[in-house]
Amino acid sequence: IGITSCKSQNKTVAVSINNKELSIDQKVNALLSKMTLEEKVGQMNQYNGFWDVTGPTPAEGDAAKKYEHLRKGFVGSMLNVRGVKEVRAVQKIAVEETRLGIPLIIGFDVIHGYKTISPIPLAEAASWDLDAIKKSSEVAALESSVAGINWTFAPMVDISRDARWGRVMEGAGEDTYLGTKIAVARVQGFQGEDLSDKATIVACAKHFAGYGFSESGRDYNTVDVGTSTLNNIIFPPFKASVDAGVRTFMNSFNELNGIPATGNTYLQRDVLKDQWNFNGFVVSDWGSIKEMIAHGHAKDLKQAAEISVNAGSDMDMESYAYVAELSKLVKENKVSEEFIDDAVKRILKVKYELGLFDDPYKYCDEKREKEITGNKAINEAVLDVAKKSIVLLKNEDNVLPLKKNGQKIALIGALAADKTSPLGSWRIAADDNTAVSVLEGMQNYPNNTLTYAKGADVVTGKTEFAFELKINTTDKSEFEEAITIAKQADVVVMVLGEHGFQSGEARSRTNIDLPGVQQELLEAVYAVNKNIVLVLNNGRPLTIPWADKHIPAIVEAWHLGTQSGNAVAQVLYGDYNPSGKLPMTFPRSVGQVPIYYNHKNTGRPTTDNPDIVFWSHYIDESNTPLYPFGHGLSYTSFEYTNLNVSKLSDTEVEVSVKLKNTGKYKGKEVVQLYIRDLFASVTRPVKELKGFKMVELEPNTAKTITLKLTSKELGFFNNKGEFLLEPGDFKVFIGGSSYTALEADFTL
Ligand code: BGC
Repeated sequence: IGITSCKSQNKTVAVSINNKELSIDQKVNALLSKMTLEEKVGQMNQYNGFWDVTGPTPAEGDAAKKYEHLRKGFVGSMLNVRGVKEVRAVQKIAVEETRLGIPLIIGFDVIHGYKTISPIPLAEAASWDLDAIKKSSEVAALESSVAGINWTFAPMVDISRDARWGRVMEGAGEDTYLGTKIAVARVQGFQGEDLSDKATIVACAKHFAGYGFSESGRDYNTVDVGTSTLNNIIFPPFKASVDAGVRTFMNSFNELNGIPATGNTYLQRDVLKDQWNFNGFVVSDWGSIKEMIAHGHAKDLKQAAEISVNAGSDMDMESYAYVAELSKLVKENKVSEEFIDDAVKRILKVKYELGLFDDPYKYCDEKREKEITGNKAINEAVLDVAKKSIVLLKNEDNVLPLKKNGQKIALIGALAADKTSPLGSWRIAADDNTAVSVLEGMQNYPNNTLTYAKGADVVTGKTEFAFELKINTTDKSEFEEAITIAKQADVVVMVLGEHGFQSGEARSRTNIDLPGVQQELLEAVYAVNKNIVLVLNNGRPLTIPWADKHIPAIVEAWHLGTQSGNAVAQVLYGDYNPSGKLPMTFPRSVGQVPIYYNHKNTGRPTTDNPDIVFWSHYIDESNTPLYPFGHGLSYTSFEYTNLNVSKLSDTEVEVSVKLKNTGKYKGKEVVQLYIRDLFASVTRPVKELKGFKMVELEPNTAKTITLKLTSKELGFFNNKGEFLLEPGDFKVFIGGSSYTALEADFTL
């Protein structure tokens, strides 16, 4: 049924309160005044899909209850309903069968693409290319919008310093400055200039707050962080998302300093809604209202509903708490109807902004769905960002780029031929086997002889989001074949690492090495041919000290999405000169975790000093990382000279440096600017990223780059949450990583 007939048949209030002369707030208020308490609560209820809405109505169970609630107008949103046909079916019930005809807002985890998959967010962060990241979110918005989706649960803007945590794949890494810029790019990419444009979708900054700081990197675990970390490290990307106009927030599974985020008034009301003036709505994380019972914060579902709504959680995702308890709680005066009204207004406002009241089926157009899904432009955008996400970790003796002809190349590793794993985690709508494998990508270079052997499986058994992975730890029966082809090759390319579902939600690891027998395979191949290019596929930093010591070339290729193999092959063959830089520190050993570049000094030396025994160190491992934050090589080389710092005012400093391409190839460099405030009332990190610029240079050319530091970059939050700029002595560092840099001093 089309919208015209729907509108004419339907005598609903919602459609009639869409007078063009009224502002959105006036429409929202007018509609709210017509709503019963139960209908208001209904707007605050979100259900998961995953049942066949186009089929017959189920007679019993959850699905039957959901249908019944949908028909009564007790559902404001649904998630995981996908494709135009399904979305239209649920929307039709909301619009045509409920008393008020209020359209649903349809949510989905469009994390790094919908059907066509971009690199995992951690990989995209390695591009440091805000335009490419924005574009990637833009095409994801477009492709999901044509499938009926109008709201994504992204970006995840949680900062994390713990590579054991599987969800680092979903964020922008360890650094707040970079993470904040990326958060803004993603929000802008998803939401565009105008939310009522049907190619854009609502974004959601998540998980508010502290989720990336779970103790021991175990997903969902307790978070206990101090004020300084909260204000300076965790909050800024969330605040920047609000300033960029993000329309929704998601709270979090974890407790923060003793209070679950979902029931946390300080986070949701005091900080987000009052201090930051956020006027969109907050959705709970999946079942997180109910989880407050297990946390030991609420004694039952009713109390959990009371606590979370009073704390400012506006919408209940799959706890069934609001729909069951909120009306009762209002009648018992435990929850004020003002809080309910406020939540409902926020939700309705976003629905109006999306234009859902003008046309609830605006996202439901089969023709667009068919034309746009997986089209050329989308694939070009994801290939572009995939190439930019690759980080060249090591390239001794210029093993790379590979010669394009006359070479015998042995390609080894199960991941080299895998067409599913490169899609990574969080790609619910994408079909298996839709990624271009490295094998296929390399076959596009036909003037070399390419042989392939698996060597060993990475995973045995089911590979699905909802299942634990079984890692093959023993079977080495296929090593022999790999060794045979390696012996005959000029160069060996080995694709090793994690399966796409080995990182992501609920995928914490205590060992972050090469899983299964892959390390043994690497060593066995190395024993017969040392000329190895190791291509890593992974969703988190890995501990690969042996590889770093022995293997001449290492390429960090993450999980790069649909165009993975093409991107990898173009980099290996030098058709794209790698320019990525690590957004997260690679430890030498998991015992160093959390290890991050912007740590504090202790009162003791941290570098070896023979005169002092009690220095801050490990007796069995160095303090330094294997690869620092910001590290990434190119096929060319860059030289930094002429660092200049000039004070523009008491709060502004200009830094300039000359960058020269001293190598043979045209290349891009991410010039990184770090500062250190030497003495402060609240101690400052040894180094903090405060600016960066991407510069492309032809061989033998140079350019002077200028970056400005203002009070925003030079100041910090104290433990009362106040932002300060303290005059005093500073250092500035500029270079191609957080480790190699020129430095200078200045005083404010
Ligand atoms: C995750 C969220 C996600 C939600 C809906 C939860 O398990 O923590 O990030 O958006 O599920 O799929």
